Amino acid sequence: MLPKPDEIIYDRRRKRLIVQVLPGGKLVLKAPQGTSKHQINSFLAQHAGWIAEKKAIMAQVSPPAQALRFVEGELLWLAGRQYPLHLADTGVKGLVFKQGQGFFLLKKEQKTGVERLNAFYREYTRRAVTTIAERVARQWGLQVKSIRITGAKRRWGSCSRQNSLNFSLRLAMVPPEALEYVVVHELAHTRHHDHSRAFWAFLEQMLPGYEAQRQWLKQNGLRLPDF
Ligand SMILES: [Zn+2]
Repeated sequence: MLPKPDEIIYDRRRKRLIVQVLPGGKLVLKAPQGTSKHQINSFLAQHAGWIAEKKAIMAQVSPPAQALRFVEGELLWLAGRQYPLHLADTGVKGLVFKQGQGFFLLKKEQKTGVERLNAFYREYTRRAVTTIAERVARQWGLQVKSIRITGAKRRWGSCSRQNSLNFSLRLAMVPPEALEYVVVHELAHTRHHDHSRAFWAFLEQMLPGYEAQRQWLKQNGLRLPDF
């Protein structure tokens, strides 16, 4: 199979063809102005092996953080899906989510978008995490000292020696099953404060099939927008 570039950039000053694989796996081809389709295809065929290898590596690297701009129609993540942002002239307080319609923000508050989204995600995560934690702790007779929602970027959750649990507000962006996995994972740490075999066995008992969620987070977690 011939690799298919995501973007081709023609440049008059360029003398030779080159390909680049960007973080996230995007394939960019730069070509001198007037390069024929045939030349491009034979170049891609020649380098197919290198491209495939590089793509596999770069797919694991998170693409550069895309700053949210809070413009009309911009897509925001919630519970594993993307919803459009609508800027309203009146009738909204803060950042509001309406099922089936998306997010609403007052146009004149566009500049506060980041803080508003942070607050929205924080509240959403707090509610979702607390509901699951209470149910699971009761079910398995586990003691939780406290639950805190943080702005952590690289860590979904943690559990202290004293069984204080921390969760990142970024969990609001992931599918509900993945969020549940993180909560159950940290709760399992209240019994086993390590990643021993006993820990994973206990987790499997609590949440059979958790591995799929763990993989989802590994593969997609870093690609969610930074803000
Ligand atoms: Zn852990």
